Parts: sequence; structure tokens; C-alpha cells
Amino acid sequence: NPVIVWFRSTDLRLSDNPALHAAASLGVPVLPLFVLEEVAGDPRPLGGASRWWLHGSLERLAADCAALGSPLILRRGDPAAEIDALRRASGAATVLWNRRYSPIHTARDAAIKDGLKRDGVEARSFCAHLLAEPWTVQNKSGGPFKVFTPFWRNLSADLAPPAPLPVPERLIPPASAPASDRLADWGLLPTAPDWAGGLRAAWVPGETAARARLTAFLEGPVATYATDRDRPDMMGTARLSPHLAFGEISPRQIWHATRHSADAHPERQKGAESFLREIGWREFNHHLLHHAPHMLDQPLDDRFADFPWLSDADGLAAWRRGRTGYPIVDAGMRELWETGWMHNRVRMIAASFLVKDLLLPWQVGEQWFWDTLVDADPANNAGGWQWVAGCGADAAPFFRVFNPVLQGEKFDPEGDYVRRFVPELRHLPSRWIHKPWEAPADVLRRAGLRLGDHYPKPIIDHGLARNRALTLFAERKGQ
Ligand code: FAD
Repeated sequence: NPVIVWFRSTDLRLSDNPALHAAASLGVPVLPLFVLEEVAGDPRPLGGASRWWLHGSLERLAADCAALGSPLILRRGDPAAEIDALRRASGAATVLWNRRYSPIHTARDAAIKDGLKRDGVEARSFCAHLLAEPWTVQNKSGGPFKVFTPFWRNLSADLAPPAPLPVPERLIPPASAPASDRLADWGLLPTAPDWAGGLRAAWVPGETAARARLTAFLEGPVATYATDRDRPDMMGTARLSPHLAFGEISPRQIWHATRHSADAHPERQKGAESFLREIGWREFNHHLLHHAPHMLDQPLDDRFADFPWLSDADGLAAWRRGRTGYPIVDAGMRELWETGWMHNRVRMIAASFLVKDLLLPWQVGEQWFWDTLVDADPANNAGGWQWVAGCGADAAPFFRVFNPVLQGEKFDPEGDYVRRFVPELRHLPSRWIHKPWEAPADVLRRAGLRLGDHYPKPIIDHGLARNRALTLFAERKGQ
């Protein structure tokens, strides 16, 4: 009897894919299946940028499966019903998949597994998306960690993830090909308007591109990653996040390749440690989400549960469009819109501006990121926002308010990043690029810049906004 391998949007790869590997080694026909999940009441459907990425990733996965011998079957709808229909039509007696960890998916997958077992079908799942599953990492009293450093110390101490699995040599096809949707009919790509030009220019989805990015990173930037990772004006980070989010590369592959690279080149050791620590943050966010599923939209620190956030439609629109008048914030928000990605340092600055300067709820920013990021990931996005907002498990304290001018001057010292994404400022000298409103009139004239016309004046005074946030926080702490 054939075996079904149920691919999801977190494991779109052939290498180091435990479910696929197990299926191929059974020596029976393999039916690779992807279901575009449409379940009534889904609280978090994929955002626009993720849909664009998914299309590209499935295109490549389909080509790769076909090359191995068994074409990818595409279905849309309720996965339980689609798996059931395929298994009945094909006579498959086994269904295999890799586990995912966001609460809604865990519950959905558990119900599907129970249903299959009740029907006498073998259903097995595997660990493929994390170095360590959330329930396997425990503090001394057997509970979950709430602080990153001890979590990472514990996990990394004796971490020896299994070696990545090879791509199966071939997949035996079924006797007759099951019905499949056409990817082009799913409408995952934007059409009117087609806003994805910047995404196409910046990214190539798929497993091959993911491996190429990792190799390029380990050949170069890793050596100086510990210092350059905070510089948005440099290509100092790996830019692997969308590939990791969609599972086109596994953290085990990254871990082994990075260790191997550092062992062979001691000068890469420091950068490699620092890089793997960030992979550790990804693990930590998944750990938190597993143990506190409400963190997707509720603060982990319940002192913030009824925080008196404001509502400010104009402020929110200016932030989304990159027209706050603070160049580093605007460059970040435009990078996000244009390329579907934003540098981590700038994510922190832009998020801090929304939450602390504009006093808008972090959930509003999280939703915008969810829709516009190609690496949108429930655990990392909610974890990142809660960290910045000061309400996460191991967050920056609320009183740490990022100063967008000082941050810009420190991490984009020449203003190259700002010039790239905010071209109306490109002729401003570096001295004024992060605070154009302080530039003398003749400097602005020479730069061809009329503030309030070509580029906005700051929509809020950062000093006043900071004091407002701190006062509000102090009042609540005193309650
Ligand atoms: P590198 O620096 O090369 O790091 C390698 C990998 O480690 C990344 O691909 C990522 O998987 C992981 N990583 C790196 N930094 C972090 C971090 N701070 N937290 C968790 N994992 C990290 N990351 C997402 O993948 N999806 C999101 O939706 C997301 N939303 C965020 C929202 C906010 C407000 C903030 C502050 C951060 C968010 N991050 C998110 C984390 C981080 O910004 C990105 O993972 C990182 O910028 C990706 O770039 P890179 O691949 O070049 O990272």
C-alpha cells in the first residue's frame, strides 16, 4: 500500500526531511501531498507576503518531487477531509508528517492523528522544525524556562542534533496519478496590483536557494557576525529567516554546517557561536509559545493586560507607510514593504517607536508584520514584539525606549541604509541624515529637501513621547 507524506508550510524540503525519508525507506509508492489549509474560523490565515513565498516554494518542491519520481499532489480545504479522501482513493495505509508547534496546528494535527488511528491507519509524526522540541527542555524543577540565557545554556550544553538526512534517491510513484489542483489556480500571487516586484528582486524561495544562502554566509559574513549583525547598512546576517520559516532548510542542517565551518576555520568560531545563539532565540520563542499559547495575542506579563494603549489611525498609517519623519524607522518600514524583510536591529527600533512613542498596542504592529514579512512566524513575531514592548517572558524592560536618532547614528553611521530606502534624503550629509529637522536651512536647500513637503517632519517629538510612556508606566507600576 502507498504511503502519504503530508508536507506543510513549515517543511518544504527534500533534504533532512524525516517524514519523507521514512516514507521512502518503506519501499512502497510515496504520495507527497500539500494541502492549502482552509478551515472555517482559522484565526491566522497566511499573510500576503507569506502567500507569495509559499507559491514560489511549492513550485520548486513540486519540481523536486517530480524529479525524484512522484509528483506533488496539491489540494485545498480542510486537511482532515483531504487526507481522508486521498487515502481512500489511493488505498494508502500510512500517513507521515513532520510536527509543527503553533497551538492551533498542534491541536489540528493531534485530532487528525486520532482520526486516522481510529480508522486503522498508521499515522506517525517527526521532529524536523526545531533542534529540540519544546517539551524536552526543562529547568531544574521540571518546568519550562522563562528566561533566554539559562534556556540556551541548558540546551546548548550537550546539544548534538542528529546528522541531517539525505534526499531520498527516488520516490516510487503510485500506479495511477491522483487528482491534483493547479498551483496557478490558488491565487497565492498578487495580481491587481502586483506589489511583489520588490520581493522577486530580493528573494528566490526554495531549498536550493536556502542552501546557497547558508553557504555564502558561512564563507564570508559569519566571521564578523558578532559585531556586524547589528548593522542594517551591511549584509552582516544570513537572511535565512524566510527559508527557515517555510522549512526549506532545517535548523539541524544549519547547526551542523556552522559547527563544521567553525571547526575548520577557527577565526569563524566567535561569529558562529553568536549566530547559533540567534538560532537559539528561535528555539526559545517556540518553547515559550508551546508553554504559553496565549502569547500570540496576549501579553505574557499580565501587568500589561489592560495597558491604556491609544488608538491613532493617522500615526499608524504614517508608521506603516514609512512616513513618521524618523529616517531609520521609515527606512525599516519601507524595506519591509519593498522586500518583505527588515533587519533585526531596525525591527526593534521600528517596533519600539510604534509601541512606546505612539503608544499603540503591540498586537497592531504584530499583525502588520504578519501580513508583510516573508519570514512571518507565529512564535518569532509574537516573541519579538513582546520583547520590544516589555511584556514578554524575557523582555527588554519597558523603560528601555529606543531613541531613533541615536540608534540610527550608531548602527547606520554613514546613513547608507536610510539613503537606500528613503531616497528623498539621499543628498543629505551623513551628519544630518538621522535628524533632518535639525539641519540648517542651507544644508536642506543644497540637498533639495523641503521638510513637510518631500519628507515629513517628525510626527511626534521623541523626547516628549518617551516621557509620556515612562510616566504612564510608572503610574501603573505604582498601582
Ligand atoms: P540572522 O541574524 O542571520 O539569524 C539566523 C536565524 O536565527 C534567523 O533566520 C532566525 O530564524 C533566527 N533569529 C535571528 N534573530 C532572532 C531573534 N531576535 N528572535 C528569534 N529568532 C531569531 N523572525 C522571524 O523569523 N519571523 C518573524 O515573524 C519575526 N518577527 C520579529 C518581530 C520583531 C518586532 C522583532 C524585533 C524580531 C522579529 N524576528 C522575526 C526576529 C529577527 O528579526 C529575524 O529572525 C531576523 O532579522 C532574520 O534575519 P536573518 O535570517 O538575517 O537573521
